[in-house]
Amino acid sequence: MSFDSLGLAAPLLQTLIQCGYRAPTEIQAQSIPVLLSGRDLIAVAQTGSGKTAAFALPILQQLAARKPRGSIQALVLVPTRELAVQVADAFTRYSAGLGLTTLAVYGGVNIRPQRQALAAGVDILVATPGRLLDLTGQFGLSLAEVNTLVLDEADRMLDMGFAPDIDKIRRQLGPHQSAMFSASFAERERELAGRMLSNAVSLTAMDTGRVPQQLALEVFMLDKPRWAEFVAELVGKRNWRQALVFVPSRDEANGLVAELALDGLQAAAFHGERTQGARRRGLDEFKSGKLRLLVATDVAARGLDIEDLPVVISLGLPHGEEDLIHRLGRSARAGREGLAVVVLSPEMRADLPLLEALCPTLPEVITPVGYSAKDPLPQRYRDGTATKPATKPANKSGHSGSRSGRGAGNRTSGRSGSRTDSRSGSNGSQRQSGKPARQGNAPKRHSRG
Ligand code: AMP
Repeated sequence: MSFDSLGLAAPLLQTLIQCGYRAPTEIQAQSIPVLLSGRDLIAVAQTGSGKTAAFALPILQQLAARKPRGSIQALVLVPTRELAVQVADAFTRYSAGLGLTTLAVYGGVNIRPQRQALAAGVDILVATPGRLLDLTGQFGLSLAEVNTLVLDEADRMLDMGFAPDIDKIRRQLGPHQSAMFSASFAERERELAGRMLSNAVSLTAMDTGRVPQQLALEVFMLDKPRWAEFVAELVGKRNWRQALVFVPSRDEANGLVAELALDGLQAAAFHGERTQGARRRGLDEFKSGKLRLLVATDVAARGLDIEDLPVVISLGLPHGEEDLIHRLGRSARAGREGLAVVVLSPEMRADLPLLEALCPTLPEVITPVGYSAKDPLPQRYRDGTATKPATKPANKSGHSGSRSGRGAGNRTSGRSGSRTDSRSGSNGSQRQSGKPARQGNAPKRHSRG
């Protein structure tokens, strides 16, 4: 399948070549013709499936064919600020040369610049529901000309309690085409779809409910107090250019950032308690390669698109399959190769079925050499200094010195770490290292009870 056969106009095809997109992803191949035909759409697709282009390209094609009106004609509702910025960036990238304007509006920042940008004329508006209602309610923004409405990550919006806001917004629109993209399609999503769509085509991307096929997985088991040390060691020894680390809570994110600093690794914490500016700065530095590590909570990282992320690390497992897909699916996006590393403590053994449900070829669980329960904790964990930030100056390579001498901050050419090459099966027996398991499309076998 090629993009040419989907009915897209020449300027968009040219842009896609420039973006390096050789062929449509499955959700794009299915959604684009439906949206171009003017029908409503329900698409069950997870983040990383290429869903943004699946709705952005047909919208841009339809808008480019009309005369610019200087009013909002396409509205995309998203759950979070980060996703708003990301989706708007994608529209801007795909609309190069079409003379169309896209704006992201979201809460937590001054509303005035957003009002000024709107006054200058916007064709495509990407918005979080609360801020959009402020703009329409208090400042008279009109949505009467909107003829396409997209709900992106609809499941997430419902999680966040946005259903009443979505209904209020819908009531302000004239006749329009609607599309709903969601990672899941349970009762509440069906209810919302029933209210907002008519005679919709429904599509499901085949790989929904699974982690990407090209994702390699490694699972480690060691005591929780040593996770930070282990992460630092892995990052250093494997010489990873970048890794996104998931932790269960904001406090743990802050703690891990401080611990990694002790090992000479600069990281930023990415969670809801940090200001919008701090999150944005951390994300920009991570995306540009200035920071090797971003330590995030699930809530904040939902929908984050980091181009070509080689490694994602999950410290513990989240509560449900959906969050796990969102974590692991940060890497190996849009057909690229990637690696997911899951670190569990022995008490978390009972969580393994959740992982197995999504990764049918679950690899053996490894207890790294030097990290078994009988191995002594390093001094700093015994003397309570573990969470003090690093005070050493940065070395020449831009990383501060490693306290423990594990070399985590140095990007030397590394094979997998010598301390992490011994494996124990989930029964605890020691085994020699093998290859990480790559995930196939085998049917789902378990769900969490
Ligand atoms: P999304 O699921 O929309 O967040 O997209 C995930 C990633 O896939 C983004 O980095 C896109 O730039 C990329 N992408 C989208 N469509 C394609 C495609 N057809 N070929 C290659 N990469 C793509």
